[in-house]
Amino acid sequence: MRESDPNMPEKRRDVISWDEFFMRVAIAAQLRSKDPNTQVGACIADGDHRILSVGYNGTPHAISDDEFPWGASDDPLQDKHSYVVHAEANAVLNYRGSLRDMRGATVYVTLFPCHECAKFLVQVGIGEVVYLDDKYRGTTDNLISQRVFDSCGIRYRQIEPLTHVQ
Ligand code: ZN
Repeated sequence: MRESDPNMPEKRRDVISWDEFFMRVAIAAQLRSKDPNTQVGACIADGDHRILSVGYNGTPHAISDDEFPWGASDDPLQDKHSYVVHAEANAVLNYRGSLRDMRGATVYVTLFPCHECAKFLVQVGIGEVVYLDDKYRGTTDNLISQRVFDSCGIRYRQIEPLTHVQ
């Protein structure tokens, strides 16, 4: 081991982990969501700890989010689910590089992905899903997502709510 130089200041050691860093980016993204009930953010990072893309749940580009419903309804024309693009899908679609870069990348998402996003993530080659909340755990949609990930060899793990530094 190299002897420490008394003239060289020690580096900071109490830094946040990469997991926490990328999840904080996802949390920042979700703060942009106009959805009154569920705000979701996603951040995709590659194996070199570079951020590839970020997204949150919202209406498609060029659609005024003042002119579309933000509630659930039995009428599909009045139901927000008909119009909103999910955070993970937006993170993939916002990327302007080659989708090859997504192979083996990790998506940090504030809510466990729905089954539609699970399929998108498989198709672009995401290797791992790191999530915070799992409020739909045990629902059919949730079970389908898990099955998709399990069948396609995508790892997923939950991390604790962030408490490091505020
Ligand atoms: Zn989704």
